[in-house]
Amino acid sequence: MVELGPLLFILAFFLGASFGSFACAAASRTEAGVKWWGRERSRCDGCGAVLAPRDLVPVLSFLALRGRCRFCGARIPLRCPASELACGLLCALFLWRFGASYSFIFSSASLPFLAFHTITDTETGYIYDSWAFATAGAGLLLRLAGGFSAVLDGAAGAAAGFAFIYAIIFLSRGRMGTGDAVLMIGIGAFMGLKLTAAALYTGFMAGGVTALVLLAAKKVTRKSAVPLGPFLCAGCAAAMLFGGKFTEYLGLTVPWPWTV
Ligand SMILES: [Zn+2]
Repeated sequence: MVELGPLLFILAFFLGASFGSFACAAASRTEAGVKWWGRERSRCDGCGAVLAPRDLVPVLSFLALRGRCRFCGARIPLRCPASELACGLLCALFLWRFGASYSFIFSSASLPFLAFHTITDTETGYIYDSWAFATAGAGLLLRLAGGFSAVLDGAAGAAAGFAFIYAIIFLSRGRMGTGDAVLMIGIGAFMGLKLTAAALYTGFMAGGVTALVLLAAKKVTRKSAVPLGPFLCAGCAAAMLFGGKFTEYLGLTVPWPWTV
């Protein structure tokens, strides 16, 4: 790994933060049923004022405005700065893990998708199929750089991820939505077969532990659903960071692009 200056990490942070910002805007607009591309401008949820570029700098604008709208003083929902911060930190971690390499670009490119699904599933309990398929499309497209075997590995990951969740849905007789299965098509395409398994394992562990803690704290009841999507996305990010090392530890070969 090459020696990287702090400046590169700051750049990576803001690259990730803008991915998080884009994902949050796209998620808000998709949930509201408006176009997320084109000339649609970002507005304050409270007063509808069109936001200026200086109000849209990831993380920094939120801090400068102390979390309130410049025009009406309404609280800015925490989800956008949270998404920006999480994606920024992950992007910097990917740079730390992979150095300035294609693996860094590959893993960072998943962030807007992971953030999008995390936001919509947390807020509405809904995974948008079109976005899950877009995630898969992006993953497979980026895998072209690794050749045919890399694309095949992505397709295998997508199929395995979908089949695994679908089997659980079938066995649990529909207590889980098909959204999570479709989400795994997207995650699997990025991860490839081995790291899809790592992502599923980490996601289910994190989701299970969180559900137990929430049950113990009586924040949820046995019947209320804890969305699984955000945990699958978190598992995916964790597997990108550490899955390759874990695969190596198990004595297995690490597939492209997770070799470092
Ligand atoms: Zn306002």
